[in-house]
Amino acid sequence: MVNKPVWEKLTSELAATHTTLIAVSKTKPVSDIQELYDLGQRDFGENYVQELTEKYSLLPPDIRWHYIGHLQSNKVKYIALFVHMIHAVDSFKLLEEINRQALKHNRCIDVLLQMHIAEEETKFGMDESEIARMLEYYTAQQDTLNNVRICGLMGMASNTEDENKITSEFARLRNYFIFLSETIFFNKASFSVCSIGMSADYKLAVKQGGNMVRIGSMLFGSR
Ligand SMILES: *Cc1c(COP(=O)(O)O)cnc(C)c1O
Repeated sequence: MVNKPVWEKLTSELAATHTTLIAVSKTKPVSDIQELYDLGQRDFGENYVQELTEKYSLLPPDIRWHYIGHLQSNKVKYIALFVHMIHAVDSFKLLEEINRQALKHNRCIDVLLQMHIAEEETKFGMDESEIARMLEYYTAQQDTLNNVRICGLMGMASNTEDENKITSEFARLRNYFIFLSETIFFNKASFSVCSIGMSADYKLAVKQGGNMVRIGSMLFGSR
């Protein structure tokens, strides 16, 4: 079941700040996705490869599928044909594999680099120095990486009620995003996305300059 009034309110609220809404539909049935699609939603987020490929085969072809979870290199091949954006790139090896698989389908896949901003050890992602190191490889081999495009950063804040803490974690990502857009990605208009914010903290994310939010339970109910 989809919460239509919430979707409508959220959509107009986010449109006012030019923020893209990713409806996170993981574990939810195809009928829920179709319901939101019929209302006009086009960007959907999934984080299991098999679930995503099944849903892709059953739903309208103009859906923009975002892969938002941790992705193993050996699974890229299953989604390379159709995925719109991969949010959680956390190694150069994965970036190379996305490029290789995208080339096979003669397309260019948009990706975000996952930055680790939360306190929890379990969350994936790279810190500033790891991203910088990865981007050194990227810059050195850019001529061979024509089928992948780095469009920004993605991050998840700590799972806490402490709004100051969440705010400072989002600000850290935003600051590093600005630094990158003024250095390595200077003059690259495509480097434009800060994917931060989920159901519980999207308002704080937008305040900190987030322009893409990934929202699941608020739209589809708890999982
Ligand atoms: C599940 C998930 C979300 C959505 O979380 P909600 O709290 O349901 O809004 C956002 N981002 C990622 C990476 C997720 O795995």
